[in-house]
Amino acid sequence: MIYLDNAATTKTAPEVVEAMLPYFTEMYGNPSTIYSLGSESKKAVNSARRILAESIGAKMEEIYFTAGGSESDNWAIKAAAEAYCAKGKHIIVSRIEHHAVLHTCEYLEKRGFEVTYLEVDRDGMVDPETLRKAIRPDTILISIMFANNEIGTIEPIAQLGQIAHENGILFHTDAVQAYGQLPIRVDEMNIDMLSASGHKLNGPKGIGFLYIRTGVKIGSFVHGGAQERRRRAGTENVPGIVGLGAAAKRAMERMESKTETEIALRDYLIGRLEREIPYCRLNGHRTRRLPNNVNVSFDYIEGESMLIMLDMKGICASSGSACTSGSLDPSHVLLAIGLKHEQAHGSLRITLSEENTREEMDIVVDELKQIVQRLRDMSPLYEDFIKKEKAKD
Ligand SMILES: *Cc1c(COP(=O)(O)O)cnc(C)c1O
Repeated sequence: MIYLDNAATTKTAPEVVEAMLPYFTEMYGNPSTIYSLGSESKKAVNSARRILAESIGAKMEEIYFTAGGSESDNWAIKAAAEAYCAKGKHIIVSRIEHHAVLHTCEYLEKRGFEVTYLEVDRDGMVDPETLRKAIRPDTILISIMFANNEIGTIEPIAQLGQIAHENGILFHTDAVQAYGQLPIRVDEMNIDMLSASGHKLNGPKGIGFLYIRTGVKIGSFVHGGAQERRRRAGTENVPGIVGLGAAAKRAMERMESKTETEIALRDYLIGRLEREIPYCRLNGHRTRRLPNNVNVSFDYIEGESMLIMLDMKGICASSGSACTSGSLDPSHVLLAIGLKHEQAHGSLRITLSEENTREEMDIVVDELKQIVQRLRDMSPLYEDFIKKEKAKD
């Protein structure tokens, strides 16, 4: 099997699993208790909290454990809307946010909030000037993702955050794809809230965190006990938290070498696809791009058929995002960067890990060449297109 869907989820690293195991077996104490079995768990939770805080230049008490990226996004946006609604009811996000942000915004629109969805350019970049113009006196929150999960484009977060702060507006970023792949400093980048998720960086599923800057007055997401400074009640997911801490430590240590390996594979793959498959285009920014992301569209191809044929060869990839595949709606991200519906349907997302090899890239290109040719041979539209091209000559 060749796994090329690391934006959907990653393999839990063996050392992460190893770190978690004792917290299922001998060290099962509740961190809120006072006997030593419980305080061992509490120590483990705090040690993970310290790793996460240091990884983004935050303080320990600014890290709140959640059940993952979706919960962090929901919490940040809903709670900010509630806490700051006396000041105004206007929120700004981009058109290419993850559904955890977009659907939360739609929920708020039904409850009297107004949301501006910023357009992006053909590379998927948010223009800081467009953001500046969208700001109103009643804007209370700006939420722009750090890097896009479908096309890999990295947004100018520090600049966008600065514009938010010049206008006294809270700035949240969904950094689920960026965290562990790119260096992040919340102070230098003007970030007030940041969402991250364990399973996107070789950690376990169902655990993540929300960074909340000291002084941001958002309320609790889960009401109950005093855990997470009363802002997110419920007995801590100790094994998950330990796993997230171990995954973050591992990701920070190897970020540089991992990035180098992945960029080399990424650019090799993009180069071969562009050179060897006709009517293929790269989606997303060519350089301001996640090290592991390749997203291409093939004209006259139906993405789902391509995925099924790749799967028969043992290759796991994605068309659009995992959340949209299976539905017939084309990806909102690909439409936002100006693709036509049929181009969006013919897109393929390949997201690498440092374990992938050049030989695997070669296999993928060779398989794709055949698959694309076979699907085009079955397409009446492609046949018409070729006839017209020939007539031109
Ligand atoms: C995966 C992802 C999420 C959701 O994270 P979960 O932990 O799966 O809930 C949110 N935002 C982005 C950009 C993602 O890639």
